[in-house]
Amino acid sequence: MPSWPNKAQLLQGFILPALFLLLMPFCPVFSQEGGVRLRTVVIDAGHGGHDPGAISKQSKMSEKQINLDLALRLGERIQKECPDVKVIYTRKTDKFVELAERGNIANRNHADLFISIHVNSAKSTAASGTETFVMGTDKSESNMAVCQRENSVILLEQDYTTTYEGFDPDNPESYIIFNLMQNAHFEQSIAFASLVQQNFISNGPIKKSRGVRQAPLMVLWRTTMPSVLIEVGFLSNSSDRTTLNQAESRQKIANDIFDAFVSFKNTYDSDGSFSFDPAVLDNADDEPVNPPAPPAAVVGPHYEIQILASSKKLKNGAPELKGVQEYRVRFINGFYKYSVGNYPSKEEAARRLPGIQKKFPGAFVVKID
Ligand SMILES: [Zn+2]
Repeated sequence: MPSWPNKAQLLQGFILPALFLLLMPFCPVFSQEGGVRLRTVVIDAGHGGHDPGAISKQSKMSEKQINLDLALRLGERIQKECPDVKVIYTRKTDKFVELAERGNIANRNHADLFISIHVNSAKSTAASGTETFVMGTDKSESNMAVCQRENSVILLEQDYTTTYEGFDPDNPESYIIFNLMQNAHFEQSIAFASLVQQNFISNGPIKKSRGVRQAPLMVLWRTTMPSVLIEVGFLSNSSDRTTLNQAESRQKIANDIFDAFVSFKNTYDSDGSFSFDPAVLDNADDEPVNPPAPPAAVVGPHYEIQILASSKKLKNGAPELKGVQEYRVRFINGFYKYSVGNYPSKEEAARRLPGIQKKFPGAFVVKID
């Protein structure tokens, strides 16, 4: 009579090896035709050519070089280990590619996944760690700092005002266009982003995670597939920078993204039922990446007239201020907002507005609490 293996034997002989196989990322190759499966991935090395991205005097490599190196390492592993997947790069060399074109490449090739790779930078050298973005409309201060930097690449393009329908990365009001977008691949994007961050936390050379975040990023805006933008660390932070300058560490980062890709493909090719823990969206570490301006001197609720908003802090006498000497500046949602006046009522402020609009046509009344 055959004897049934006891629990310990079962665990040793079957369950553990099976679990091991399940946990080890491997790339499934499906021979059958048809069915939904992940066939094409677009890997986007951010910046390039005359756009270096983030730079640091202390760094051997600029952001564009690190991005490309990581993209090629990731693509190589996918090509080698997932032969049924077509890998398309938005660039394989040091060349400039317009932001809209990067998404277009993915759309034209009917890609199933879009991975944009970037390196972060901040005024505060203390800011460090990795974060992965999906398209969303969250305009919190730290998200907007990234958005502005990554979106402002379009200013280096010719005809950007026509390509992006008048979108101005420096103008917070411009971001309203993103509110209209559909987000059909939100859950899949979040699922992939979570896998990337989980791998960074458990295996990455930079273990500090700023989480999975949502932000209005132009490069993800019109892609018609799950899409993420990965910020692999801060070039402005000395520890992150040292890591990013080491080839061995960059290979580890590429491996982490590859493992996330394989796990994602496994689910995508089987039943495609992605689930994610909404908590991943909340674990973002919200330390401000730009130090806020000192608080304004005026206290108590009142009205002022905002004359301009700028991503950079303007010097006294800057031409944008058009000779205005008396103003207050507040750092809100990634922008330095400049305002004048101190009016007890909205009506009073509105009466003064036309005079100020002669100099600053875009000026408007703001309530200060
Ligand atoms: Zn970048």
